[in-house]
Amino acid sequence: MKRPLSALAFLALSFAGAQTAPVPVLAPNPVNKALNISGRSLQMPESIRWVTVDEIRASLPDRPINVSFDIDDTVLSSSGCFWWGQQTFSPGSTEYLQKQLFWDAVNGCDRFSIPKDSARALIKMHQDRNDQIFFITGRTAPRQMELLTPLLVKTFGTKNMHFVNFAGGIPRETKYDKTPFIQSLKIDLHYGDADSDITAAMEAGPQVRAIRVIRAANSTNLPMPAVGSFNEEVLRDSAW
Ligand SMILES: [Mg+2]
Repeated sequence: MKRPLSALAFLALSFAGAQTAPVPVLAPNPVNKALNISGRSLQMPESIRWVTVDEIRASLPDRPINVSFDIDDTVLSSSGCFWWGQQTFSPGSTEYLQKQLFWDAVNGCDRFSIPKDSARALIKMHQDRNDQIFFITGRTAPRQMELLTPLLVKTFGTKNMHFVNFAGGIPRETKYDKTPFIQSLKIDLHYGDADSDITAAMEAGPQVRAIRVIRAANSTNLPMPAVGSFNEEVLRDSAW
């Protein structure tokens, strides 16, 4: 005669069953990152002159060159600083960008900004070539000691670091605020996410090459620029 299972035996069998059940496994798929992070960057029409870091490296002369990077949305996802600044100094408008108090207050905020993987790859490639690396930002300099330069050194391991160039609020005769810096630093290649990065490089002279970096999809700097609109080269997968 069969004896009914004791409660203990039943539990033991249940656990054994649970252990043999198939465990779901996440399949690694690098495409998912692009899909999840920046839908905008997935629209990759063939008409755009896409380039990769390796292709840029292969296209450069043997001698070291001077390279400049925009900062916001090019090397750092810094929208959090600007979002906070807008809520604090001029909710609903961009007036905060005209206030020196904002630029003073936002100094140091970049300890919360996220460095972009694409910027790391670019900076490493240029440093391996012994290129001179400069940063040119449209930000206005703070009145106290600026904290961006040491942060960029720490974040990207930048060698032979030059002080960040703050173009905001500097009197100029050119149309675009970064143009005088691109000219005086004798920049050969400028990277940026904004239309004004591309047009400043164009204004600086035909010898300056401009490469577009894609703005992060959740940037607060709107409207989004249309990459490739100046027939400039665009770095693939550079939204993060
Ligand atoms: Mg920018």
